[in-house]
Amino acid sequence: MDDIPFLRSLIRNIPDFPQPGIQFKDITPILADAKGFQTSINLFVEKCRDANVQKIVGIDARGFLFGAAAAYALGVGFIPVRKAGKLPFTRRSHSYTLEYGNNVVEIHDDAILPGERVALIDDLLATGGTAGAAAKLVTDLGGSVVQAIFLIELVALDGRKQLPGVPVTTFLQY
Ligand code: AMP
Repeated sequence: MDDIPFLRSLIRNIPDFPQPGIQFKDITPILADAKGFQTSINLFVEKCRDANVQKIVGIDARGFLFGAAAAYALGVGFIPVRKAGKLPFTRRSHSYTLEYGNNVVEIHDDAILPGERVALIDDLLATGGTAGAAAKLVTDLGGSVVQAIFLIELVALDGRKQLPGVPVTTFLQY
């Protein structure tokens, strides 16, 4: 089977999780399948290699799984963007609006060197709020987001609009 239909066959749709109306895309069957995990990481790695990425920023929490494995394969550093209150060193924060309330993401102050070419990685692009805030943290530190890469895109939510000027790559669209 081709890579994309194969990966699609491993995504489990959970209706009404974590709340009514949400179709949750569960990627744990991809992680659990040796070929599935390798195939997905290879897609991220190829895209990063093409873009001459120097550092990978993974978004809390499933972005760590794909981002860290891709960074290892590429031989580049990995940086976590975390939800508020988790990072121990001096850091900067960015808050963004959700349908109800606010969310905050953080990055360590010394995570990115000025001019560094960064790929932002997460499992899924929905409204784009999280990725947009993470991109702002990277640019605040002087980095350049040369790719934002997601396994899955929920196209109707148009999350790409939160990443103006950033090349966005997604492998599976719903
Ligand atoms: P957003 O900021 O709206 O783009 O949401 C993106 C974050 O929420 C990602 O870290 C996803 O892991 C998670 N997420 C949002 N919607 C879903 C969904 N339908 N299924 C699985 N994860 C989701």
